[in-house]
Amino acid sequence: MRVDRVVIGAGFAGTVIAERLARGLGERVLLVDRRSHLGGNAYDEHDEAGILVHRYGPHIFHTNATRVVEYLSRFTEWRPYQHRVLARVRGQLVPIPINLDTVNRLFSLSLREDELEDWFAERAETLPRLRTSEDAVVGRVGRELYELFFRGYTRKQWGLDPSELDASVTSRIPVRTNRDDRYFTDTFQAMPREGYTAMFARMVDHPDIKVALDTDFRDLPVTLRSAGVVFTGPVDEFFGQPFGPLPYRSLEFRFETHDTPWLLPVGTVNEPDETAVPYTRTTEFKHLTGQQHPRTTIVREYPRADGDPYYPIPRPENQALYERYRALAERTPGVTFVGRLATYRYYNMDQVVAQALATYRKLADERLPATTDLPAKMPRVSIPTTSTAAAASTASAPARSGTTIP
Ligand code: FAD
Ligand code: UDP
Repeated sequence: MRVDRVVIGAGFAGTVIAERLARGLGERVLLVDRRSHLGGNAYDEHDEAGILVHRYGPHIFHTNATRVVEYLSRFTEWRPYQHRVLARVRGQLVPIPINLDTVNRLFSLSLREDELEDWFAERAETLPRLRTSEDAVVGRVGRELYELFFRGYTRKQWGLDPSELDASVTSRIPVRTNRDDRYFTDTFQAMPREGYTAMFARMVDHPDIKVALDTDFRDLPVTLRSAGVVFTGPVDEFFGQPFGPLPYRSLEFRFETHDTPWLLPVGTVNEPDETAVPYTRTTEFKHLTGQQHPRTTIVREYPRADGDPYYPIPRPENQALYERYRALAERTPGVTFVGRLATYRYYNMDQVVAQALATYRKLADERLPATTDLPAKMPRVSIPTTSTAAAASTASAPARSGTTIP
């Protein structure tokens, strides 16, 4: 068997690239992941009770990128879903992002929409620039709301004070003067109707994509690694950390199934009080998936310093360290780095898909690499056998140039 490209990591980044290279460019692709499943951190599965859960924490799809929706819609239908989150503050569950109802309920006020901007302005601190995650909130709504909603949550989530994190982290959460209580306002908000894993299985259901699970790229033969590699794991790990480890934040997920149909009033309840509980949020999956079931499963997220790398940590010194790895990556011919861990960016799923599609277009513009022989003895190779594969044919494969594949 021959391969044109080895794609390392079967999350969104790797699966999109593999799918495009095979279907769009006619390449033969080996897609490897050290985990035992497709989908990376977006992997979902049915738990023992038969409830669809996200093994690596709640994943809610939302985007303004039409091209990303069009692309993924080749592999899944969608169930519209607007995520809502309540924060437990002073014994009450109030909407986050902070909106008119949040302020009125918390402070026993009856402000109107046109009055709230002034109310925030009276409390906002005047700062020369909004550099940190503390600045971003305090400069917008003042210190009291910052301490109630952001300080404790952020210190738990990141193990750092908001003053030590880039403004971009808390800026993910808007502040509203109206009563909109949706967590996201993107034009497209929906969940894959049969789940993420079913979608990924359809993406790789192609004769020219071989999937090798339980396989670390370091165990691949050097000959195979040296030609046409796309890497989507942690970039520092790829190089053996010559400049030291890039910091990532990890989480422990604790699942509970209850003998009741519903536990939470909305998809997620946030716990910004640092002293009350050590976890950051609780999510009830049935809100997200729309599954009907007499029981229910929730997950709580406990932030950890050690464990699987889930979050790049946005702060200047980490960015500076990443730049050294990026420079090294650029000097490494034949290897393309794409995805949240490989480019050290706090990206949502849709941003990773957009990045992967853009990377594919660049690869398509380049000459195909030399075809490499796969060794006779390969790690366990499994190809998902979704009979329902609805992978609509997309751009037809151009004639192969440069490399002949027997
Ligand atoms: P990953 O999904 O991390 O995939 C990388 C893969 O590479 C992994 O499967 C890993 O096993 C594999 N790999 C790494 N090293 C090696 C190696 N040496 N050999 C072989 N394989 C290797 N985004 C949203 O849009 N909405 C959300 O609601 C949302 N919620 C999130 C909640 C949590 C708790 C987390 C952690 C993330 C969330 N995200 C969300 C972000 C989302 O998970 C990412 O944007 C997306 O999954 C990144 O895809 P990726 O392919 O870049 O990386
Ligand atoms: N955040 C917070 N309080 C909240 C929600 C979010 O302080 O109630 C901060 C926190 O630093 C968090 C960041 O905003 O890490 C981004 O929140 P988001 O919900 O986007 O985090 P993710 O889903 O990526 O974990």
